[in-house]
Amino acid sequence: MKTEIVFIDENNIDQDIIDRAGDIIKRGGLVAFPTETVYGLGGDALNRESSRKIYAAKGRPSDNPLIVHIADMEALDRIVSDIPASALKLADYFWPGPLTMIFFKSDAVPYDTTGGLDTVAVRMPVDSVARAFIRASGGYVAAPSANISGRPSPTSARFVEEDMDGRIDMIIKGDDSRIGLESTIVDITSEKPMILRPGYITKEMLEEVVGEVTIDPTILDAACTERPKAPGMRYRHYAPKGDLTVVKGPEDEVVEYINLACASMESSGKKVGVIATGENVSNYSCANIKCVGSRTDEEEIAHRLYSILREFDDEDMEVIYSEAFDEGGLGGAIMNRLLKAAGHQVIDLRQEEEE
Ligand code: AMP
Ligand code: MG
Repeated sequence: MKTEIVFIDENNIDQDIIDRAGDIIKRGGLVAFPTETVYGLGGDALNRESSRKIYAAKGRPSDNPLIVHIADMEALDRIVSDIPASALKLADYFWPGPLTMIFFKSDAVPYDTTGGLDTVAVRMPVDSVARAFIRASGGYVAAPSANISGRPSPTSARFVEEDMDGRIDMIIKGDDSRIGLESTIVDITSEKPMILRPGYITKEMLEEVVGEVTIDPTILDAACTERPKAPGMRYRHYAPKGDLTVVKGPEDEVVEYINLACASMESSGKKVGVIATGENVSNYSCANIKCVGSRTDEEEIAHRLYSILREFDDEDMEVIYSEAFDEGGLGGAIMNRLLKAAGHQVIDLRQEEEE
C-alpha cells in the first residue's frame, strides 16, 4: 500500500488536508495522527472493518481493545449507554486532555472496536490537529498508538513513518508529542473509579475531583497473577530491541554498577547504551549515554523516554541500562512504562545490600 505523507502545522492547520484525512477514515481507511500523548493510528470507531484493519496494521492481538477518540462532549452520548456523575466531573476537569475513561458501551460501538467487551474506552485529546481530524472523520476515531505492536509508542512523526509506512493510507506529521506517555485510563463503571493504566493525570489529581480512586492491583505488583483489567496491560509493551535492565538504589551505587556492567559488556563486544538522568550523566564512562532529563523534571523524562528507546533501536543497541526514577506522581507512570519495556528486569542494589 502506498502511504501518503502530509505535514500539518498546528499553528496554521490546513483544512484541505484535514478534510482529505477525514474522508479516508469515512471510507474505512487508516490515518496516523499526532496527539499530546503519543501518535495514534486512527480508523472509524463505528466501522468494524476499520477496527480489524487497525489490528492488522499494528500486528496487535484483537482482544486488546481500542480507545475511541472524540472531539466534543456532545459526541459521548451516542457511544455509551450511561454517563455516571463521576465521569461528568472528570470530563469537566480533564477533557480535553490525557485521560481515558471506561464506560458501558452503546450498540453503536462494534465489538471489534472493544475487543469483545461490553465497555468502551473514550478519550478527548487536546491536540488541535487531532481534534480537527476527529471532527473531519465523523467524530469517532478508534486509535491505539501508531507503532507495530510491542514496540515503544511513537512520540515523533519519524517513528510513525518507520513503523507504518506502507501499512496505512496516510500519516499526518506534526510536532513531537508534548507529553510522550499514553493517557491515564480510569474505569468509572464501578462504584469507585479505578486506574487501569497510570499516566500524566495522577491518582492524586483524580482524587481531588472525585474522592477516593483505587488502582488495579496488577499494575503495582509485577508478580501479581490476577488478570489486569485493561486487557492491553497483559502484553509485552514498549520494548526496545536491546536487552533493557533497570537499576535501582542509591544514585552513586547505580552509576558504579552500570559503569562496571557496561565495561564488562563492551569488552565482550556488545553495543551498550545507558539511559541517564541529567544529575548523573557526566559520571558514566560508557560509550553510548543518553540523557533523559533532570530528576527534578519528570515531564521532560516522560517526554524523552520512548524517543530514547527508539533511538537505541535505530543504533542497534544490544544491551541497555537505565537508572530508576522516583515513583510518586508522574514518576509512577514513567516507572510503569520503563519496567514493562524492561520485561521487569530489575537490579535492586538496596535489596542486595540487605540480603
Ligand atoms: P493503546 O491504544 O495502545 O493506548 O492501548 C489502549 C489501552 O486501553 C489498552 O491497554 C487496552 O487494554 C485499554 N482499554 C481499551 N478499552 C478498554 C476497556 N473497554 N476496558 C479496559 N481497558 C480498555
Ligand atoms: Mg500502544
